[in-house]
Amino acid sequence: MSGLLEGRTAVITGAASGNGRGIARRFAEEGADVVIADIQEEDRLGGQPTHELLEAETDVRAAFVECDVTDRESVEDAVGAAEEFGGIDVMVNNAGIIGPQKPLTEVGYEEYRQLMDINLDGVYFGTQAAAAAMIDGDDGGSIVNMSSAAGFEGYSNLTPYSTAKGGVRLFSYAAAGDLGQHDIRVNSIHPGQIDTAMTSEDMASGEPEQNDQATPGIPLGRPGLPKEVGDVAVFLASDLASYVTGESILIDGGLTNTG
Ligand code: NAP
Repeated sequence: MSGLLEGRTAVITGAASGNGRGIARRFAEEGADVVIADIQEEDRLGGQPTHELLEAETDVRAAFVECDVTDRESVEDAVGAAEEFGGIDVMVNNAGIIGPQKPLTEVGYEEYRQLMDINLDGVYFGTQAAAAAMIDGDDGGSIVNMSSAAGFEGYSNLTPYSTAKGGVRLFSYAAAGDLGQHDIRVNSIHPGQIDTAMTSEDMASGEPEQNDQATPGIPLGRPGLPKEVGDVAVFLASDLASYVTGESILIDGGLTNTG
């Protein structure tokens, strides 16, 4: 631990599993107290619940709050839960689903709507709630919104997902413009293929700590790890990124920008 987030309190949605869990672990290693806000406490891969893991592995305080990001009040309550640790400094709007994986012509409105409610409206609710609390606290803050490589390119058979993730990118740019006067930075992160239950439902249970699986098409030759997503989120949440806002960072092993 190098203490990059010492004295900060973070709220992370969807942090029971996957990337959110990886972000929470890295935040705790850097000294942040963390509120885990998720619809369920259990890790999808069957590990120890994230907040218990953080308290066992580090000296930080961690709490779980049941939160459905499609419900504005539920998100406001999750942000309010940070008061127990001194008030929110960092918000990570991470919760998301992959949604329908089929051609646009076969996508029903209900499944499209569900995807938008979670992946886009959830980010809107989370950013608004966090910004209001940060403005009240009068000490600035950092908001990190989870997009995807699919927020830069339209992925076929993933129209709703690409639409929402592209929306998250531009939403974050616009919010950065509105919130800069309050010293609140807003950035988006854009993973490519990361080893989580979302990408491998049949993945063996346990924490992904390394992956040497050869993956053609990715210049670095392998999928990424939730920890590597967490590393970038730590940077954006910390003072190392004090002059970084309205930025979107790919974490994709070179997949998107190389031919
Ligand atoms: P994951 O392992 O499925 O974790 C997502 C977590 O969010 C789960 O704990 C899930 O709970 C929770 N969640 C789902 N709906 C929610 C809601 N309405 N309110 C609160 N929490 C909710 O997926 P992941 O791969 O870590 O994905 C996390 C984020 O990274 C998503 O926004 C995703 O789009 C993004 N991302 C992932 C990849 C990748 O390759 N994995 C790539 C690019 C971007 P349940 O388990 O109960 O559903």
